Amino acid sequence: MDQIRIRNLKIFAYHGVYEQEKEQGQNFCVNAVLYTDTEKAGKSDDIADAVDYGAACLFIDNYMRENRFDLLEAVTRHVAEELLLAFPAIRKVELEVEKPDAPIPLRFDSVSVKTERGWHRVFIALGSNMGERLKFLERAVADLRADVCFRDIRVSDYIETAPSGGVEQDDFLNGVLEAETLYSPEGLLARLQEEERLAERKREIHWGPRTLDLDILFYDDLVLAKKELSIPHPDMKNRQFVLEPLSELAPFYVHPVYRKTVKEMLEELEETGRA
Ligand code: ATP
Ligand code: CA
Ligand code: CA
Repeated sequence: MDQIRIRNLKIFAYHGVYEQEKEQGQNFCVNAVLYTDTEKAGKSDDIADAVDYGAACLFIDNYMRENRFDLLEAVTRHVAEELLLAFPAIRKVELEVEKPDAPIPLRFDSVSVKTERGWHRVFIALGSNMGERLKFLERAVADLRADVCFRDIRVSDYIETAPSGGVEQDDFLNGVLEAETLYSPEGLLARLQEEERLAERKREIHWGPRTLDLDILFYDDLVLAKKELSIPHPDMKNRQFVLEPLSELAPFYVHPVYRKTVKEMLEELEETGRA
């Protein structure tokens, strides 16, 4: 993707662990790479189609002067996130904040912390088979819509599904949600588990009845295989109740491991079901 680069933006601000840094302030230097599609602005030559880098510099300067953090890690994280929220056309930002005069009694040029933050396209499976199923699903969707770390949320139709996995229980209501998110994969899992807790989900029987189940299906084209988090969701190719609503939203999304589209996976599953 195209880049807009800001080098050595000088800002006087008050971040630091020491009292003296908080009271007297010091110089900071910011380097940023803003990832954005410049095709439209390149063609139209109109500032309205571009990320206004002057405005972005003023925004960084203002945010860093108006807020105070102890750690450079916190400064970089917050500035990167706020930039992404304030300038929706920036898809990803690399941000480095330097302290040329950090309080270290040695000779050095500067110390800095660099971070990368961006919007990621995710698909999340939604399921409920206890109590007011639709209410549990709708509340979860509403909560995610209200969270600034999600945008462009789309939700499939909900479908009724007979339970699988061998446990005697009521039918499920299932659907899929698509969104862009600023959360990391682990951060997203934690955010979804918080939502399950709000629905008072109890983890009693594996694959047993639940008020709310939120599983990460895809996170960009990331492949991750850890016990606590497997992406893409390992069992999706065998689940009609996942592939059907997913196919409604993104039939041509390609599974990063099987290299098959969602539509192909759904057709294959329907074939084997019929065999
Ligand atoms: P299944 O994952 O087969 O649908 P389940 O949803 O009933 O089963 P849970 O009891 O909800 O399983 O979750 C068990 C653990 O699975 C979670 O604590 C989480 O750490 C882990 N997990 C691994 N990969 C994922 C993923 N892609 N999305 C959500 N949770 C995951
Ligand atoms: Ca599940
Ligand atoms: Ca789950």
